[in-house]
Amino acid sequence: MIKATLKKKISPRVVINGHPWIFANEVNTVDGEVDPGDIVEVYTHDKKFVGKGYINPASQILIRLLTRDKNETINEDFFYRRLLQAWNYRQQIGYSENCRLIFGEADLLPQLIIDKFNDYFVIQTLALGIDKWKPAIVAALNKIFTPKGIYERNDVPVRELEGLQQIKGFLSEPFDTKITINENGLKFLVDIENGQKTGYFLDQQDNRRAIQHIVKGADVLGAFTYTGTFEIHAAAYGAKSVLGLDISENAVAQANRNAKLNGVENIVKFEAENAFDKLKQWAKEGRQYDVVMLDPPSFTKTRENIQKAITGYKEINLRGMKLVKPGGFLVTSSCTNLVQPDLFLEIIQMAAKDARRKIRQVCFQPQSADHPIVWGWENTHYLKFLIIQVD
Ligand code: SAH
Repeated sequence: MIKATLKKKISPRVVINGHPWIFANEVNTVDGEVDPGDIVEVYTHDKKFVGKGYINPASQILIRLLTRDKNETINEDFFYRRLLQAWNYRQQIGYSENCRLIFGEADLLPQLIIDKFNDYFVIQTLALGIDKWKPAIVAALNKIFTPKGIYERNDVPVRELEGLQQIKGFLSEPFDTKITINENGLKFLVDIENGQKTGYFLDQQDNRRAIQHIVKGADVLGAFTYTGTFEIHAAAYGAKSVLGLDISENAVAQANRNAKLNGVENIVKFEAENAFDKLKQWAKEGRQYDVVMLDPPSFTKTRENIQKAITGYKEINLRGMKLVKPGGFLVTSSCTNLVQPDLFLEIIQMAAKDARRKIRQVCFQPQSADHPIVWGWENTHYLKFLIIQVD
């Protein structure tokens, strides 16, 4: 077995906080001939065992740990046990029909994502060391569930940093990749093959319920709607009118189909528009809504661009707030882990100051619990969902 020895001075992340990432500059020596993706044993400078994980010399994160147990062998059965554990946990906390079955690091399976949409599974293997185990992961899914289909959405640019190609396709017999899921008593079409990410944003599934009371009888504006999930929830919860904007024609077409599927097409309309422009224009024109909902994409994936992201969030929330009637509500999200919760609240506070509005917090919560937050591992708490009353 190849052995990696850490430097004496490394960040407390790995050894004390138990985070699975080991950066190349934290490793002193690697003994043995390394094939990218190999399993290696990691030791501290004074020869204490740290864990076993996969190595990729092409990646800045040289090693990602899979286990802290010296006696655990990484083989097909290991992946079966990990998937079963994750599935048991999801059921224990009340998620079974649709859930993120594996949330990478938080499930101790770095860079593996598996979303379960009733009997269908969508997989992403975002690092070489986990990609190698794809057959074992698929075997485990087949053993635990009776999947109607398994699909890989590895058309993700980060794979290139690992020397992997972007690909997508079936990992089971081919099936119709346009499926329907139930969420909170509503139906949504999920396009597994061509939708964004894995096809659907499960991380907002609980937050969509949080708008239930504030939208009754309301005129609602939603921006960054994707397939219209929040907006269709709003209509089902009794909104008077709902207008949703997304820049993607495909998303808008699917959102309109979803509205029909739920019989709310007379209440909800979706339009393909640039939300930045429209919100600015409508705020200038003095349009007013009872509820404005914003769920923009991540404005940055790198720390270097963090200032740009802060400016983006402030700007969009400022425009959103201006469109809220006094006493109405702003429902706003941020999905980048680089903007941590405190910073997000600060940004909203700055926007309120600029808009000269007083705000009162209704709720502030993270992603749904099927995407577990491991305390001390910042990147596992990535979604911020806030409802405020705007006076
Ligand atoms: N609220 C959705 C997820 C939104 S994801 C849900 O819960 O399912 C972010 C969306 O913002 C994407 O659909 C993307 O197409 C859209 N988007 C990105 N830039 C935009 C822009 N400038 N104007 C409008 N929509 C935009």
